[in-house]
Amino acid sequence: MQVLISAEQIQARVRELAAEIHRDHPDGVHLIAVLKGAFVFLSDLARAIPGSCSLDFMAVSSYGSSTKSSGQVQLLKDLESGLEGRDVIIVEDIVDTGLTLAYMQQILQARSPRRLRTACLLSKPSRRKVDVPVDYIGFEIEDKFVVGYGLDYAERYRNLPHIAVIDPPL
Ligand code: 5GP
Repeated sequence: MQVLISAEQIQARVRELAAEIHRDHPDGVHLIAVLKGAFVFLSDLARAIPGSCSLDFMAVSSYGSSTKSSGQVQLLKDLESGLEGRDVIIVEDIVDTGLTLAYMQQILQARSPRRLRTACLLSKPSRRKVDVPVDYIGFEIEDKFVVGYGLDYAERYRNLPHIAVIDPPL
C-alpha cells in the first residue's frame, strides 16, 4: 500500500479546518458524523475545535459494490436530536460522486437548521456526478480508491493513522 497522505499531514490539516469552523461558528456548532467512515475524522476534528460543540451520528448505506457508489442511499440510523435553529455541520470522510452527501443534505435541510454546512476530509472532484456544496475540504485527491483514517476496504484498514491507496479487486 502506498501512503498518499501521512498522519502528520492529516493532523495539521484537521487543526486548520477546526480553526476555520470555530471562526465561522463562534457560538458553537453541532457536528453530525456519517458512520462508519467519518468516526476518526469527527473525533480529531471535535477535539481540535476550541469552542462549544455537540455531536450526533447517522448511518447510511450506499447500495452497490464495496468500491463503487450506486447513488441509492438507505438511512440505517437516524439522529437522536432535532436540528431546528442550530448551526449544523455534516462531517463526512470522502465525497466521491456526491450522491450520498446530496441525500444527507436534502434530508437534514428539511429539519430546519439555522445553517447547514459540510466538512469532508477528502474529495475526488473528477468523480462528481452531482454538484454538491462542500464548505470545508481537507484534501482533494485523484480518482484512486483510498483506505485508512476511518475509511475501509471490506471493513479493514479503518485504523490506519494515514490515508493509503489500494488496488482493490474489481
Ligand atoms: P459518493 O456517494 O460521494 O459517491 O460516495 C460516498 C461514499 O463512498 C463515502 O462515504 C465512502 O463510504 C465511499 N467511498 C467513495 N470513495 C471511496 C474511497 O476511495 N475509499 C473508501 N474506502 N470509500 C470510498
